[in-house]
Amino acid sequence: MRVIVVGGGAAGLMAAYAAARNGNAVLLLERNEKLGKKLYLTGKGRCNLTNDCPPDEFLLHVVRGAKFLKGAAYAFPPAETMAFMEERGLSLKVERGGRVFPASDRASDVTKTLERACCEAGVQICLNTRVSRICTEDGAVCGVETPSNTYACEQVIVATGGLSYPSTGSTGDGYRFAEACGHTLVPCRPSLTGLDLREPIAEAQGISLKNAVLTARRNGKAVSSRMGELLFTHYGISGPLVLSLSAEINRAPIEEFTLSLDFKPALDEGKLDARLVRDLTERKNEQMKNVMRGLLPAGLVPCVLARAGVSAEKQANAVTREERKRLTFSLKNFPMVPKGLRGYEEAVVTSGGVTLSEVDPKTMESRLVRGLRFCGEVLDADAYTGGYNLQIAFSTGYLAGNSIK
Ligand SMILES: Cc1cc2nc3c(=O)[nH]c(=O)nc-3n(C[C@H](O)[C@H](O)[C@H](O)COP(=O)(O)OP(=O)(O)OC[C@H]3O[C@@H](n4cnc5c(N)ncnc54)[C@H](O)[C@@H]3O)c2cc1C
Repeated sequence: MRVIVVGGGAAGLMAAYAAARNGNAVLLLERNEKLGKKLYLTGKGRCNLTNDCPPDEFLLHVVRGAKFLKGAAYAFPPAETMAFMEERGLSLKVERGGRVFPASDRASDVTKTLERACCEAGVQICLNTRVSRICTEDGAVCGVETPSNTYACEQVIVATGGLSYPSTGSTGDGYRFAEACGHTLVPCRPSLTGLDLREPIAEAQGISLKNAVLTARRNGKAVSSRMGELLFTHYGISGPLVLSLSAEINRAPIEEFTLSLDFKPALDEGKLDARLVRDLTERKNEQMKNVMRGLLPAGLVPCVLARAGVSAEKQANAVTREERKRLTFSLKNFPMVPKGLRGYEEAVVTSGGVTLSEVDPKTMESRLVRGLRFCGEVLDADAYTGGYNLQIAFSTGYLAGNSIK
């Protein structure tokens, strides 16, 4: 069968390989001058290509679409991704939390391995070729158009990615193709991204907390609480902890959320209060702005004291019991008001996309148009960091290609 794959990222390359290996004539069209432009950026240039875990554990790290992805996760699990790479000569290493990287620490080696697999399987690759339309006839795919050409085919695999990092080529074309073919879209939102705060803490910019707990409340009810590393930035907050939290709150209006930060999760209120009593006693002649340096980085001291209503200049032995209680409370429940998610220029992935109920999870084929398939980030499926998003691309890409016999 003649198959056209639109997009030469992680999902498209895997789909093209799998379809060609089944004996199909596969043409891969990529708008950029090179393949896998986003892949080069992944894992800070090292490419965390998957996670060394069984399929059911992988699915636990999927934020949206876990049920849909179950078949794909078992058909092409992380172990298969690793075997695929290693069988083609790419040595891998497993780091903290099961994150898998090429032993060379070069993301480009992952792209090269995928490209080589495609070439060996007979995939024809056309760069600098942006698809503008998918042609259908009588409810089935019949070709694709570019501004200068029409290509006839019986199968089209849309692997155009999402909206994040648009400079890499993912500008949402696949969503437009899907809609033009009658599909509905789940509205897209940036995910795995930082948060703008209404009042960024200027003095704290650049401070990173290794083990903080951030809780998001929606209309007063706790909806997400996570522990990890948090970074204060000029616009608000970022870091792994915030990225994960963004994935959980990005689908509702941001005005409905409040955040609270626990600077001292290892100490409950009682223990923290006891620690404060000790500090205030031992350093009774010092000003509070200095005493607090034992508990917090300098840049965070003024805002926590202000929040608790304790003067920075106040001497420790003049702090009242009430003030100390307020300080304990502020250290455990420092409030922050989110203003918005950082945009697609910074978001690691897009959440939202092609509605999953309109796609067959066994083949990635559209339930509306015969011969049309979707894979990768264009689908309404996304995961946390740790190699899981690329695994979604590889698993769905493999199924999309391999199901064309
Ligand atoms: C900075 C950054 C770091 C990341 N790090 C990791 C990581 O370490 N681990 C991990 O698991 N995930 C990571 N991700 C997420 C991961 O990169 C994506 O989820 C994954 O690349 C999605 O693969 P895809 O093939 O669906 O889309 P993409 O990789 O975006 O590929 C889509 C391709 O389609 C092409 N295209 C688009 N429209 C057209 C058109 N009309 N015609 C022809 N071609 C078209 C694009 O040019 C692009 O090459 C990271 C993302 C970013 C932005």
